[in-house]
Amino acid sequence: MLRFFHFSDYFYKPEGKRSSASEKSQVVIALAGNPNVGKSTVFNRLTGLHQHTGNWPGKTVATAEGFFRHGGVNYRLVDIPGMYSYEPHSAEEEAAIEFLLSGSADAVIVVCDAGCLARGISLVMQTAELTDNILVCVNLTDEAARRGIHVDTRKLSHMLGMPVVATSAAHGRGMEELAAEAARLCGHSGARKAKKPFQLKYPEPIEQCVSDPEKKGLDRDKIIASTASSRIRMADAVCSGCVSRDRDNARSELDRRLDRIFTGRVSGRLCMIMLLAFVFWLTITGANYPSEWLSAMFGHLEGFLRNLLAAIHIPRIVQGLLIDGVYRVLTWIISVMLPPMAIFFPLFTLLEDAGYLPRVAFNLDSCLHRCGACGKQALTSCMGFGCNAVGVTGCRIIDSPRERLLAIVTNSFIPCNGRFPMLTALISMFLLGSVAAPFDSMLGAALLTGLICLGLLASFGVSKLLSMTLLRGVPSSFTLELPPYRKPRVLSVLFRSVFDRTLFVLGRAAAVAAPAGAVIWIMANIPMGSGTILSAVCHALDPVGRFLGMDGVILTAFLLGMPANEIVIPLMIMAYMAQGSLTDLNDISAIRDLFVSNGWTASTAVCTMLFSLMHWPCSTTCITIYKETKSLKWTILSIVIPTAAGAIVCAGAAALMRFF
Ligand code: GDP
Repeated sequence: MLRFFHFSDYFYKPEGKRSSASEKSQVVIALAGNPNVGKSTVFNRLTGLHQHTGNWPGKTVATAEGFFRHGGVNYRLVDIPGMYSYEPHSAEEEAAIEFLLSGSADAVIVVCDAGCLARGISLVMQTAELTDNILVCVNLTDEAARRGIHVDTRKLSHMLGMPVVATSAAHGRGMEELAAEAARLCGHSGARKAKKPFQLKYPEPIEQCVSDPEKKGLDRDKIIASTASSRIRMADAVCSGCVSRDRDNARSELDRRLDRIFTGRVSGRLCMIMLLAFVFWLTITGANYPSEWLSAMFGHLEGFLRNLLAAIHIPRIVQGLLIDGVYRVLTWIISVMLPPMAIFFPLFTLLEDAGYLPRVAFNLDSCLHRCGACGKQALTSCMGFGCNAVGVTGCRIIDSPRERLLAIVTNSFIPCNGRFPMLTALISMFLLGSVAAPFDSMLGAALLTGLICLGLLASFGVSKLLSMTLLRGVPSSFTLELPPYRKPRVLSVLFRSVFDRTLFVLGRAAAVAAPAGAVIWIMANIPMGSGTILSAVCHALDPVGRFLGMDGVILTAFLLGMPANEIVIPLMIMAYMAQGSLTDLNDISAIRDLFVSNGWTASTAVCTMLFSLMHWPCSTTCITIYKETKSLKWTILSIVIPTAAGAIVCAGAAALMRFF
């Protein structure tokens, strides 16, 4: 059984006030560990259920709990966010630490990476300050062995004076022993020792000491600082006693060689751009065919639905609203967005799983540092590829408030999934010849990569500008962990990218698209003056639109598309069609003809793409920015800055193209 819950649901309640009888009877085991050590994988294996094991820090601080049974006893396992120490650097770490300090768990399993044991042992030592009920799980032993690293778990257990189990969670090895050892630790299985209550060794929670440092002379920072260096020395000493390394290990050598290429000064950046272009090429080439099939299928279905509605005597106006409004926008979203997402997200997740993304942060670190920003901004930008709101939340991984604001304000320069299909569609329609030709898809991928690089450059430029003006300061340094390269688990990647990302984003887009389609259809059909409300709005915005190299309809579509960027093109189609030229819109060339008949040229397409890259964030992102910054000023600036950048770039590009 698995359910998601929020940490606050779970904080320690004094005896007798626990919420249910079952809760009282169950033993709670917390699963702690550094990020990326396979905690979620251990969790899934123990509870027998699968859930997301992604490592994007900065997701909402909700986590999972599950149950496992051993020796007839139920154990409640709580997967807490990854943490490096008891000094929180992010909301996630804070939540994890608070949970452990609250004493809600009866025992803690600390998961460590066998290949990087000292760091895990340091956390074990800190946890030992809180409880004796600790079980050390040395995970990733298979990967460590491949790299020539072996851990003598018996010796480790002897040195630490606590049970240690070696596991390889990805392959299910050691799980039975882990469960048995956890049960023994809690005193429910075998008779090793009775369960000890979870007790803080400090006279009171450390957090309280901070607020009242005078009290008992305790100071949290001092406690941590005074023990940190000795703890690290001790962890190193423990590890040197029980970890052995093969000399000349081929795997470590391969990792080093790969890193020389992927993180080299020139080769690293070149590989990064080429990999990005390759992913786009696969996305564009692969998405065309299913897109065409889907839109053809929806075209046929449209005829059938029209006949059906007519047959059951639905009034014409309702038919129009349902078919021309809701149905068309919805099916556009599915046929145009689903295929690229279903290809792009798994590819991107594969790169994430293979351990490549931290290398991207490493490659971009020096650029970002020069712009006065934090290298971790590269990671939050990568998150922005999927969804800017996720990217903005992800900025929590940046400790300095100044750098976090820089990352938040510039995140919308990275085109999210909602803008992606629009860019690919416009490139295919106006900048390439035949969509399916292989050379054209290569050119398309190159153009898209160029656009993304432009967005990235704009985000660097704006970061620099802000760090020289409103957000002045010295960039901080941070430790970036480069995990070993891993063979990605294809099935799990597919599962995660389809359910966690593709369907989630599609669902959200569809939920916005259906009412937006109805609203725009109504606007396009309610008369006003000599035209309709829609034509009046488009007409009013036309001069501004033309100044920016677009027209009033395009600008109106961007404005009405604020709830979700993915509906901008369907809005344009509906607005143009409402203005007269009705076409059969089964394929992309028909849409191109519709646009051309409304005065579009390649220059209009370029300006529209540039504006799509740089304009206000969608409403979900705006709300997220407000939630994250708690500042109306920075929320407004996050809207104004990209819009101003877009207006300048578009007006400049339009003037240049007119000139030539
Ligand atoms: P978490 O951040 O600690 O929750 O780590 P995850 O459970 O998300 O695991 C991070 C990565 O390590 C994933 O790609 C897992 O597939 C992989 N992984 C976890 N455990 C093992 C293991 O025992 N062996 C190997 N080879 N990979 C593992």
